[in-house]
Amino acid sequence: MDEGRLGKVLFSTAPWRSRFRQQRHTAAAPPPPVEERPPGVGLEPFAVKPEEPAPEGVAQLRVVRKRIGGEIVFGVSGSCCCSRLPFHAPPEHGRPGLALATLMARDAKAGGVAPAETLHAMRAWSESKGPLVRWLNRLRGHHPDLHLVIWDDTDFDIPWELLWLRPSPADGVAGGWLGAEVSVSRRTTLDSEYARPMDDLRCEGEIVGYVDEADAHIAADLILLQEFGLRRFPTLRGLLGHLEQAGLPLAMVYVACHGEYATEGFRYRLGGVPLGELSGHILTRLTDAGGLVFLNACHSGRLIIEERFNDQTLRGFVKVFLASGAAGLIGTTGAVGTHTAKEVARSILEHLRRDPDTPVPQALRDYRRALVPAGLPPIDDIEANRRLLRTLYTFMYVYYGSPQTTVAFEAGAP
Ligand SMILES: [Zn+2]
Repeated sequence: MDEGRLGKVLFSTAPWRSRFRQQRHTAAAPPPPVEERPPGVGLEPFAVKPEEPAPEGVAQLRVVRKRIGGEIVFGVSGSCCCSRLPFHAPPEHGRPGLALATLMARDAKAGGVAPAETLHAMRAWSESKGPLVRWLNRLRGHHPDLHLVIWDDTDFDIPWELLWLRPSPADGVAGGWLGAEVSVSRRTTLDSEYARPMDDLRCEGEIVGYVDEADAHIAADLILLQEFGLRRFPTLRGLLGHLEQAGLPLAMVYVACHGEYATEGFRYRLGGVPLGELSGHILTRLTDAGGLVFLNACHSGRLIIEERFNDQTLRGFVKVFLASGAAGLIGTTGAVGTHTAKEVARSILEHLRRDPDTPVPQALRDYRRALVPAGLPPIDDIEANRRLLRTLYTFMYVYYGSPQTTVAFEAGAP
C-alpha cells in the first residue's frame, strides 16, 4: 500500500529444551494465586503437559477453534511458570471482523477504516476478554520482561499484538498494547520432523535473499541489504531452488517483493510464486542451517484454510519455512506501504546488528513501543491518523518462532 493513498481512507510442536541464558527476575516476589472464577460456557480443565515445562518468564497462550452450540468461537488457555489460565471459550469469543488486512485496506469499500478507529475498536473488543487480560496483567506484573508465545490455530486473523491491556494498579502495570508491552512470538502447529525446537537459537552465517528490482521502492532495500552482505538471487524461484540444496549455516533469508493474498493456495502468491507450489515442500538448507526468514512482502505472515481440502489445516508461507527448519520468521498480516516496509526492515536489522543478543521478537516489541502514541485521538483527526498509519503498519509485522532467536549479522558480512 502506498501511504500517499491514505487520504482516500480518511485519514513444531517440539518441546522446550533449554532454559534461557539469563534468568532476569530470579528475585521476583512469589506469584499470587491464580484467580478462581466460576466456569463459563465451554470451560474445560486445562493441564500443562509435564514434558513441556516452559522457561521462567515465558508464557504460552493457546488459541483453538471450538464449536459452542451452532457457532465456532475461539477458546483460550494459558500457562506460565507462575500461573495458568484455565481453558474458556465463552460466546464473547466469536470470530471478530478485525483482520488488520481489512481494517488497513486502502479504501472504505474494502473495509478500510482510519487508523485511530482501528485502535479504538481493538480497545473496545479487548474489554470483553477480561479473564485473558487479567491473566496477562498478572504476568506482566510478575515478569517485567515477559515473553509470550501465542499458539493460535484458528483462522480468525486476530491481531493479538493489538490486544489492549488495561491499566492494573494491583499488578503495578500501566495500560498498553500487547505487542508493545510484551515480547510476542507466534507459533503454529507444525507436523514436521524438520522443524526446529523452541529453543535458544542463534542464527549465524550467510545472508541470502531475493529483492524484486522491478519495483523501484522495493529495490531500495538492496542498498540496505548489501550493507549486511546479502548474497542475492535474481528471482524468488532461484532463491527457493538454492534453499533446496544443503549448505553452510545461515544468518538470514531475506525476501522483499509483492505479495497477493487469497484463501486459495494457488492464488495466494509471494513474488508470483503460489503457496500451493510450496506447501509440504522441505527447503533442505533451512533444515541444515536454520536462519531467520524475513518476508518483507504484503500478507506474507498470514495463514489460510484451503476449503477444498476440507482438512481444517492452516497453511501459509510461514509454515513452509518453519516446517523446513527456519529458526524464526518475520512476516506481515496485510498490505504494508513500501516506504514503511523499507523503514521497518532497516530499524529491525540495525537493532539486531547493534545488539546481537537481542531476541528478534524483543526488537520488534521495542520498535512498536517507540511508535505508540500516549493517548487515542478522535477517529476523524486527519493529522493524527497520518502519524498512526506508520504505527499500525509496525503492528502488522509479526514474528513466528522461538522467543529467544537471535541473529549475528557480522559473521555474514563481507
Ligand atoms: Zn511466570
